[in-house]
Amino acid sequence: MRILIVEDEHKIANSIKQGLEQEGYSADTAYTGTDGYDLASTEEYDLIILDIMLPGMNGLQICTNLRKNHIHTPVLMLSARAETEDKITGLDTGADDYLSKPFAFTELLARSKALLRRPNGITPKVLTCADLTLDTQNFTVTRSNKNIDLSKKEFALLEYLLRHKNQIVSKDKIIEHVWDYDSDILPNTVEVYIGYLRKKVDKPFDKSLLKTIRGFGYKIEES
Ligand code: CA
Repeated sequence: MRILIVEDEHKIANSIKQGLEQEGYSADTAYTGTDGYDLASTEEYDLIILDIMLPGMNGLQICTNLRKNHIHTPVLMLSARAETEDKITGLDTGADDYLSKPFAFTELLARSKALLRRPNGITPKVLTCADLTLDTQNFTVTRSNKNIDLSKKEFALLEYLLRHKNQIVSKDKIIEHVWDYDSDILPNTVEVYIGYLRKKVDKPFDKSLLKTIRGFGYKIEES
């Protein structure tokens, strides 16, 4: 799950980013409205956390323009002013939820999770493939009823693959959704992590679920 944070107060932006990363999400930051709009309209995000008062282009304009351009990424709007008028204007521009500053990180996280679950209304909390189960709420993974310990990145990678079960996902898509836009990722990082996953999720069991589709990417499938 990849989240964009558009907020000109560096301290707030960076602490949100840090908090989200600790929860296993990957997050990019933009400190001006213009940069935020550029990223939001060219990269694929699962959620945008958007401040209203921004230099360049404000949050309301950004949201209006995104929706005009048929970009329907869920938007959680932030504002320093707790006025209802702001809230109504924000939701009118196509934002999905609204949070007024100051807020507790736990509140932001709860709202974000609700929006990340919403996209098609049927995003399941427990993902499975054959006897492999990943619980996105309790952060547990089991196979054949045995618990498997995964690092946060391994968990995020497995979750992404399971959300696209039976589909080939390219390395680029994996990097986009599991790693940060500007994190130092080496060409073989994805392979290395797929290797870690295989060791934990496939090797101890008789059937392998993780497939490498040479030249295309990876796939998790039941057969
Ligand atoms: Ca601001």
